[in-house]
Amino acid sequence: MSRAAETSWFSTQGRSVRFRLLAIALLPMLVILPLLLGVAIVRFDDRFNAMLISKVNGDLTIAHQYLARNLEYTGEHVEALGFSARFRDLVRGEDRAELQALLEERRKELSLDFLYVTGRDGKIIASSPSFDSPTIRTAWPVVESALNGIPSTAIDIFANEELAEIDLGLAWRATLELVPTPNAVPTDRRSETRGMVVHSASPVTLAGGAPAALVSGLLLNQNLVFIDTINDLVYRAASLPEGSQGTATLFLDDVRVSTNVRLFEDRRALGTRVSAAVRSTVLEKGETWLDSAFVVNDWYISAYEPIVDSYGKRVGMLYVGFLEAPFTHARYMTLLTIVVAFLVMTAASVPIFLRWARAIFRPLERMTDTISQVESGDLGARTSLPVAQDEIGRVAGHLDKLLNQLQERDRRLREWNEELNARVDERTRELQLANRQLEATTKQLILSEKLAAIGEITAGVAHEINNPIAVMQGNLDVIRTMMSDQMDKARTEFRLLDEQIHRISQIVTKLLQFAKPEEYAGYVERHAADHVIADCLPLVRHLLSKAEINIVREDCATRLVLMNRTELQQVIVNLVVNAIHAMPDGGRLTLRSADSDLDGKPGLIIEISDTGVGMSSETMQKIFDPFFTTKRQQGTGLGLSISQTLVTRQGGKIFAESEPGRGTTFSIWLPEAA
Ligand code: ADP
Ligand code: MG
Repeated sequence: MSRAAETSWFSTQGRSVRFRLLAIALLPMLVILPLLLGVAIVRFDDRFNAMLISKVNGDLTIAHQYLARNLEYTGEHVEALGFSARFRDLVRGEDRAELQALLEERRKELSLDFLYVTGRDGKIIASSPSFDSPTIRTAWPVVESALNGIPSTAIDIFANEELAEIDLGLAWRATLELVPTPNAVPTDRRSETRGMVVHSASPVTLAGGAPAALVSGLLLNQNLVFIDTINDLVYRAASLPEGSQGTATLFLDDVRVSTNVRLFEDRRALGTRVSAAVRSTVLEKGETWLDSAFVVNDWYISAYEPIVDSYGKRVGMLYVGFLEAPFTHARYMTLLTIVVAFLVMTAASVPIFLRWARAIFRPLERMTDTISQVESGDLGARTSLPVAQDEIGRVAGHLDKLLNQLQERDRRLREWNEELNARVDERTRELQLANRQLEATTKQLILSEKLAAIGEITAGVAHEINNPIAVMQGNLDVIRTMMSDQMDKARTEFRLLDEQIHRISQIVTKLLQFAKPEEYAGYVERHAADHVIADCLPLVRHLLSKAEINIVREDCATRLVLMNRTELQQVIVNLVVNAIHAMPDGGRLTLRSADSDLDGKPGLIIEISDTGVGMSSETMQKIFDPFFTTKRQQGTGLGLSISQTLVTRQGGKIFAESEPGRGTTFSIWLPEAA
């Protein structure tokens, strides 16, 4: 994995930790809790609705029982009247007027709408209100039952004409204008004229044992007392939440014939009709309706049940219900409270969760950034997080500590590296120096070898030459004595011969001196430099006189040197002769001596300077080589090398400085005589 890839992997990891932490922090609050709340709310809503339905079902049961009880009650009263001694006496007697009066009295007492006695032939024996229409229908199932000796009570539907025959007031009361109602089944009818009657019949016996029936009726159309009683019974004060309203209704077919549902402030919704849906469920299918329904002008939690007449036919409905709006309102308020509470909780807790999450991922990101910085070369980068006692804080602290150690080690490594470099440089320099010394030594060695070889040869040759020269010199002397009288004739030739032989012997001596200097070492004595210099000058006078050369002397040396006098003279003479040779056209020769220390050793220095031709640096490099000369015939090239050998043997040193065309200075340093 490359460095870059590693870094990016690290940082995505960092980001994903951040996202995962945020998810951990926010998921429960923003996703799981809302989901749970949603489930709870839906469930609550279901239960709430079920509870409402169950309540309205209970209400319907009460209303139903009241209706049943009412029927029973009416039946009992009529039966009691039928069994009363007075009634029996009157019905068996002949006094119809008195029977009529009793019926009238009892009808009012029992708040009935009609009360009559009829025989099996269908004739009205007595009635209240008084009617004796022969056309009235008496063949009702309840009447049949009573004639057969069984008291019976049921709800029956009377046609308007039938009511009118009993009492015009009843017919009038039963009549209701239909009010157009939205959602109801469309109809052409303009009014409902039929009457819904609590129909009760009780068996009685006429004189002679003929069976008869005491029949009573209570018209329910617009019987507001009846419906208000039901309503009060079902919805006692404070049995519903504030703003809700209990309602009860009796339907004849689908028309409200008795209700406390209001159209407006005071007008009851009589004549309005039930919705098509309810009608189909209850009247047509005979089922109980338990649901929210639109009643007249608002939504009600409603319960409808069919009313069956004595023929077993569904003729109407009993309804109870209460206004849904307050419950809906209460439900919405509850939901709103929950939602608001949730939002408040979320708003309050999410920042806390986020802060906690941040307290975790911030240090992690900081550490990642720090590591990236360090990786990209900034060794000084640190997390610098405040000291925290949690694990992440401790990890960050450890990281900083590790980075400190890393930086310290890096620093030490660098230092060490620099030190190593310095050492390597130093060693390299030393090596170069050693190399150069080695080169020089090698050169010296080769030279020494060469010199040694040359020395051996030269010494041999010189010895071999010395003897012939001695023989030649001896013979020349013999010849001279023999020719004593004729000497003058060959004086010049003899002198030339002497000179040349001398020169040969000089060269041979020098050669020997160069080849085997130790054999020539004489006594070593202490000398003052200026004395030695002064002794040398006469030796070269003849050369000085040839060219116009001024001699300048500066004798400043106070110290003495320890050296063989002849040797020192020889060195100085060599140098002076060279200087004179370098100034063929004259010049100035400066001879100087002074006390001087070399490498901390006391000594003195003798300088021989000329204003002659000088030397090139190439020449300078070779002047101490034996046999090196630029003077062709004249020179031997041995002067400087012999001088150097002599001086070195004495622990001294010889240097040359020269500038072509300007002159040369040779310096001889010799240690002070102890
Ligand atoms: P020789 O004098 O026999 O040539 P030396 O050893 O004395 O040999 O000198 C070597 C060479 O050094 C000379 O040939 C000359 O070229 C050079 N030399 C020495 N002294 C001087 C000087 N003072 N000025 C210029 N050249 C010099
Ligand atoms: Mg010379």
